Amino acid sequence: MNQTPTVDKLIRVNMTDQSVTITDYPEKWRMLGGRALSARILLEECNPACDPLGPDNILVLAPGLLAGTSAPTSGRISVGCKSPLTGGIKEANSGGDPGQHLGRLGYRAIIVTGQPANRDGRWGLVVTEQGVTLERADDFKGMWNYASCAKLLTRSATASAISIGPAGELMLKGASVATTDNSKSRRPARHAARGGVGAVMGSKCLKWVFVDPGKLSARQAVNQKAFAALNKSFSKIYRSSPRYEMFRHGTATAVPLANMLNTLPYRNRTEGQNPHVDTLDGNHIRETFEKRGGGMHNCLAGCIVQCSNVVHDENGEYLTSGLEFETLSLLGSSCDINRWEDVADLDRLCDEVGLDTIETGAAIAVLMDSGGMPWGDAKAAKNLLRAIDQRSETTLDVGNGAAHVGRKRKHARVPVARGQALPAWDPRPLKSAGITYCTSAMGADHTAGFVIVPNQSDEDALLASQETQIVNAVVDSSGFCAFLAPTLDEVREFYSLYLGREVGREDIAGFGWRCLQDEWTFNDRAGFKPADDALAECLTKEGIGPGHSLVFDVAPEVLARMRTRQPPRESLYGVPPMGA
Ligand code: SF4
Repeated sequence: MNQTPTVDKLIRVNMTDQSVTITDYPEKWRMLGGRALSARILLEECNPACDPLGPDNILVLAPGLLAGTSAPTSGRISVGCKSPLTGGIKEANSGGDPGQHLGRLGYRAIIVTGQPANRDGRWGLVVTEQGVTLERADDFKGMWNYASCAKLLTRSATASAISIGPAGELMLKGASVATTDNSKSRRPARHAARGGVGAVMGSKCLKWVFVDPGKLSARQAVNQKAFAALNKSFSKIYRSSPRYEMFRHGTATAVPLANMLNTLPYRNRTEGQNPHVDTLDGNHIRETFEKRGGGMHNCLAGCIVQCSNVVHDENGEYLTSGLEFETLSLLGSSCDINRWEDVADLDRLCDEVGLDTIETGAAIAVLMDSGGMPWGDAKAAKNLLRAIDQRSETTLDVGNGAAHVGRKRKHARVPVARGQALPAWDPRPLKSAGITYCTSAMGADHTAGFVIVPNQSDEDALLASQETQIVNAVVDSSGFCAFLAPTLDEVREFYSLYLGREVGREDIAGFGWRCLQDEWTFNDRAGFKPADDALAECLTKEGIGPGHSLVFDVAPEVLARMRTRQPPRESLYGVPPMGA
């Protein structure tokens, strides 16, 4: 079937009979985008009790509400499903150009259901101005992401791609979904990484989605003149603000700060500081730009932050991009691998085979901690990832995540929440991070919201976690990048002009709160209980920091209050999604 959209359409793909349908976008979802839209679709259409890797799970690819417009840094895409890693709802958010391109084409979401009876084949979805078609992609089977996307994108100079690597095809629970970055490079270096969303795409035998907006220009706002003026004034003010300074050198430069705060995982979180931290400091990556090439770039069209580092090797050849703080912390420090160059190799390998660098780093650290690999053995870690093509048992174990490796090796120290590995920011010094890891429907996920403020009281930490969870839910639904750090007041200004209707303060906070409610409701129906709002015992019993005194000790009664909303404070509207 081949249909052409006009404006605001949905693409429904049934992988059981390989049919494609384009429908009008329902009015009831008008104010939803990205994460909130994904949550609502899953709540209304997916059985929360389903097998995450079976035909009843649903994969949602939803650009943010402002994707495809000229609003700065606003084209991100949400990938949602029931997670095979946590058993709960999942939204993983990615940059790259596919979100922008789907937005320009007028598609608010792609909803993928069903599963082919024969799982040997591979399929690709082609989305262009001419329509949407599903085609055989058997010749892409088993291909690593870089080669696969390079081959696919030879079809058009204006297209972008969403793809999975062999980890997704093997349905490994740490598998990611890759998106190609901006039109100059078009590399699959951006990932909706967390929760095994790539395994769900793999379970549907969907290897890639090709999105080509051709020469279509940005989507127009209802009040386009005022919208353009707001873009201009926001960008000008933003570039002279502390928010710009915080992120424009990339997250990799946060390594020394995290170490100073005792929140940098070292050797599977047995310490919160790394004695060799200097060689992992992302500032050293910046120092190579002049000699080796590379530099900072925008991962998606229209990003004014440009926080993504492009990393070259010592021969001046491209190696990887978006080498983030999280990757340096989990694949580096937590495994006692302390040369950033080694971590860059591991990052590229994860991007190639399609694995989450956080989950994979945590899984390798558990493997090392349990005696399955020497600490700091970068060569062995690289070989382990390369061995995915041979289906090495240890590689498959690591690809299934930290909790799986812990269970298999009968190792108790496995830092997870809801089955998902913790991101770098250790919750023992940062209580609000721990509260988010416990209470977010997503499992341990720093992008769900926290503040980098140590020594908070339980009450302040609870409030900070709640407020930033609301703000992050709004931002992840808008298409804005969290590293732009827009406030709720700023998001609602853009919404009001784009939609041509006033979006008030109560409205915008309500969008975020409703998104969280939808996600919690899905998890309730999937069988989660209040007792599941907890961190692994190693984080509540084993201390780090001075005298090993820091443990996560927020009581369950405090955590239980997360879902009882207090009236929003005035400060809510000025809170950035993440930060100090
Ligand atoms: S701020 Fe960074 S991660 Fe966000 S869209 Fe821009 S380059 Fe990508």
